[in-house]
Amino acid sequence: MSNILCFLILAFFSGILSPEKERKVFDVHIHGSKNVTAQLSELEGAGVYKAALSTSWDLQNTFRGKSKIRILYGLMLPCPNGKVPYSLQPCYETGQDWPSPAWIESRIKTGEIDYFGEVLSQYYGISASDSLLFPYYALAEKYDLPVGIHMGGAGPGHGSPAFRMELGNPQLLKQMLGRFPDLRLWIMHGGDQFYREAISIMQTHRNVYADLSVISNPDIIPGEKFRVLMKAFIDAGLEDKLMFGSDNGDIAKVISSVESLELLSEAQKKKIFYANAERFFKKR
Ligand SMILES: [Zn+2]
Repeated sequence: MSNILCFLILAFFSGILSPEKERKVFDVHIHGSKNVTAQLSELEGAGVYKAALSTSWDLQNTFRGKSKIRILYGLMLPCPNGKVPYSLQPCYETGQDWPSPAWIESRIKTGEIDYFGEVLSQYYGISASDSLLFPYYALAEKYDLPVGIHMGGAGPGHGSPAFRMELGNPQLLKQMLGRFPDLRLWIMHGGDQFYREAISIMQTHRNVYADLSVISNPDIIPGEKFRVLMKAFIDAGLEDKLMFGSDNGDIAKVISSVESLELLSEAQKKKIFYANAERFFKKR
């Protein structure tokens, strides 16, 4: 007994058991950058142990086996003019906007796809409930894979001419949720300026979560605005459905913008930084 006590005292003072120096972070929203090795080591250095990645299929594959971070691989679709918004690289080798469901199914079977997203319906100029997406939602349902849909606004220079702001409204999810009620769905960017609509969908649909990417990035959204949004989500009782996401923002800044929210308890921060995402991404 005293040996254990000695060990604990020693361990504490040598730092092994000291209070968490850095957060344990599951980043549910990253895209590929030009320098994959640098990107991964920056995320790792910030405490990210797991991340959901969506980018062009080719670039995505270069992440495999590169770091200690457990990467979940997504599937971007539909791609406006076959391209990833902003970086404008082709999404798929053949340049198509929509990968074929048969190809997707074979990739799911080999374990190369962990989720559907980022779904770019808004950039493509269609509703997230457009029937063009149904074969993909059906596959997600069949294999119990989560679906992440871009909702909200967009930054400048996305290069998607069909983009329409009003298509970022989470109320548009109602119809597809009626058809695919068991889908594990997450609203990306917390719906951004449509956060009230996101809240109402999340309150009425058990399987709908949201990530905090972009809205938690102080380089894009002022901290005071983020605080207002977070208060609305928390007051609505949604602390179990919010997930951390950086969307390639400065990871240290984005972590500290959540960290410094005084309205969150330590337990709520743990939920947001990883626990909610762990539950959401778990196969049923
Ligand atoms: Zn997005």
